Amino acid sequence: MTKSYSIVALKGDGIGPEVTEATVRVLEATEKKSSFKLNILYGEAGAHCIAEHSTNLPKETIELIKQSNACLKGPMTTPEEAGAPVSVAVTLRRMFGLYANVRPCRSFPNVESLKPNIDLVVVRENTEGLYSGVESLLAPGVGIALRIITREASFKVADFAFKLAMQRRKHLTYIHKGNILRITDGIFKDAVKEAQKNYPEVEVDDLHIDAATMQLIKQPEKYDVMVTTNLFGDILSDEAAQVTGSLGLAAGANIGATYGMFEPVHGSAPKYTGMNRVNPIATIMAGAMMLDWLGEKVAAKKIEDAIIEVLKEGKVRTHDLGGEAKGTEITDAIIAKI
Ligand code: NAD
Repeated sequence: MTKSYSIVALKGDGIGPEVTEATVRVLEATEKKSSFKLNILYGEAGAHCIAEHSTNLPKETIELIKQSNACLKGPMTTPEEAGAPVSVAVTLRRMFGLYANVRPCRSFPNVESLKPNIDLVVVRENTEGLYSGVESLLAPGVGIALRIITREASFKVADFAFKLAMQRRKHLTYIHKGNILRITDGIFKDAVKEAQKNYPEVEVDDLHIDAATMQLIKQPEKYDVMVTTNLFGDILSDEAAQVTGSLGLAAGANIGATYGMFEPVHGSAPKYTGMNRVNPIATIMAGAMMLDWLGEKVAAKKIEDAIIEVLKEGKVRTHDLGGEAKGTEITDAIIAKI
């Protein structure tokens, strides 16, 4: 029987619609060369919904997501005023228990990178830490935000990272600031050490977050899987993306026990809205990660190979890669390879 997957695509804000549409075109081209079916359903979410729905994540969209196998999420603008709806990504991660945020970063052919042989994955705890959303004003000019760290969430993400390390080069680095945040990062460190007992083959080391940001520039090729708490992982994975060339190439997966949401690492880059100028590869890579997570590994590899071929040829390059090609041109080139 032909396998079929129901995918919710959220186009988002700013450059979101163009990079999401590019990805859907690539997924549909891949589907034609494969034996599975994709049923792509579009949901509304993002800052552009707030005026009409008084929320950035309408109930209908949540229902649609509940009935789907996976979500392809375009970048969205998050208003920063106090009282504005919280980020859609943060809400979905908590609502669907998407506890592991997986951000692969590697050097690509013909893309300027700090070192030619970087191949690492940042695994970031995705549901708590400083992104718990517990923030308040104590008095005018004095605010607090709670950094909630639990043994349960830390163990789950550590276990996920060890499993990933087992499929890769069997090296895991955990990142913390245990010398200052003794209680919260003490819990995180203990949870990693507990998870480690089940993976004796994995070589383990650790770094303080400040040293890790420096090491990522000094010798990024040394790292395989890096696991850390929410805010540290957010910062570290953006840094890792830039170290390997461009935010326009970096994809992320948000994985839970039964659901996955896939998105580019970058945001909605509002100043480039509608210009057909940005690089859609980050979102296309997120689409490939989605197929891989769904079990369609051959199709996922087909997309990755097509992207690498296009980059290797170097004839079609978007602005972030030093060229002048439009987003639709690089998408066409990838589809032609598929
Ligand atoms: P951003 O990632 O949107 O843009 C920063 C810069 O990165 C851009 O100006 C551009 O130079 C470059 N860039 C981003 N995407 C690119 C692409 N595909 N190709 C080439 N270059 C690219 O970050 P920001 O300006 O800090 O945030 C803009 C908005 O996006 C904010 O509202 C923020 O909250 C939101 N955001 C959303 C997500 C998400 O939806 N998961 C993630 C990060 C930021």
